[in-house]
Amino acid sequence: MKVFKFGGASINQIERIQQLPALIENNANSRLIIIISAMGKITNALEKVVDAYYHTGNKEALLLFEKIKQYHLTQIKYLITQQWANATDALNQIFKETELILKSAPTETYDYYYDQIVSKGELLSSSIISYFLSENKIPNHLIDVRKIIKTDNQFRNAKVDWEKTTNNISEIISPLFLQTDTIITQGFIGGTGQNSATTLGREGSDYTAAIFANILNAESVTIWKDVNGVMSGDPKEFSDAETLSQLSYKEVIEMAYYGAQVIHPKTIKPLQNKSIPLYVKCFLDDELPGTTITNQNGKHLPPIKVIKNQQALLNFQSLDFSFVEGKPVNFLHELLASLHIKPNLSQNTAISLLICIDDADQKAELLAAESSSVFDVSIARNLQLITIRNYNQEEINKLCENKVILLEQKTQQTIQILVQEQAITQ
Ligand code: ASP
Ligand code: MG
Repeated sequence: MKVFKFGGASINQIERIQQLPALIENNANSRLIIIISAMGKITNALEKVVDAYYHTGNKEALLLFEKIKQYHLTQIKYLITQQWANATDALNQIFKETELILKSAPTETYDYYYDQIVSKGELLSSSIISYFLSENKIPNHLIDVRKIIKTDNQFRNAKVDWEKTTNNISEIISPLFLQTDTIITQGFIGGTGQNSATTLGREGSDYTAAIFANILNAESVTIWKDVNGVMSGDPKEFSDAETLSQLSYKEVIEMAYYGAQVIHPKTIKPLQNKSIPLYVKCFLDDELPGTTITNQNGKHLPPIKVIKNQQALLNFQSLDFSFVEGKPVNFLHELLASLHIKPNLSQNTAISLLICIDDADQKAELLAAESSSVFDVSIARNLQLITIRNYNQEEINKLCENKVILLEQKTQQTIQILVQEQAITQ
């Protein structure tokens, strides 16, 4: 049994979806679970609907949702013929459920509505793909993952209940494989014990694939992407970025930790626990070798580069020039945890603590305000955090050219440098 995951970009155009039957036939040759993300940028569009619903009003939310409806209806007009009426009914059912929410006044938390509304992206896309594949000689069974992957009710970042999920998979999925070779389901979403939808964190479909693979002892997981595989840097930023043919689970976890947008970080552990290989392949050309991720280390890895823009550096200085240790340090760590802020880099000096964070959602201001009774806080903004794994001096020089280095930290394998563009003086 294999698990395939198709991300948003692999199903964002009619022509791409039309490639799926051949791609599946060429690459599956066994029982298959297909995990589907929302099409293209639909998750982002649904986030805007939630925002409008909660902050602006029902009318605006319904208007934005109408565009999402039309997008999906257009897709099925081009993709599905014999079963077009059934597919339309299935989509309409999902639209109706969503509009019922959007027409009412919010009585629950923002995060609750986020999950009820944003989860519709995956329900719509998986329904379309299921009809399309069955019309194209891939009979399949579509299942609602909200009934299988059970989670707590921490909306937007739900934790999987592995025991319940394992039971559901053996009770529901295993018998289904006696009737069909292909099961299709949604990535990214789950359900609470009370059957409310939950989501597992943005880009969480990779994780869904890993959950199924782990519980079903899959032979492999393949994530189909619009790039050749995992690369040594973002090809949009680095023209010399190369595809890494072989990586270890550990290397991928490290890359994700430093901010490489490769694979959802939670994906690796369930696979590593059962030594299930993870393939990252390009759906535009399935003959390309892609990246294989296993326990084995990649040989001669080139420098792997991750750039994070929009960084803020906060300097927490003790109010009375006393050493920063013990109590104030603990206070700051607790504050960071309670505000769900994960520092990208931190460093201590005698009388201050330096912390670099993503400069978003007013978090820097919030941190400064909440800690002003303990620290004098200053903030530097518009910084860039450069991380290089397997670094060498040449690469460091290249990336830091014309930049002022504010902070630097290195281990044997990784260097992190926080920089500011140099002001041009005339
Ligand atoms: N559709 C969701 C997102 O865009 C989940 C995923 O793509 O993995 O975040
Ligand atoms: Mg995605």
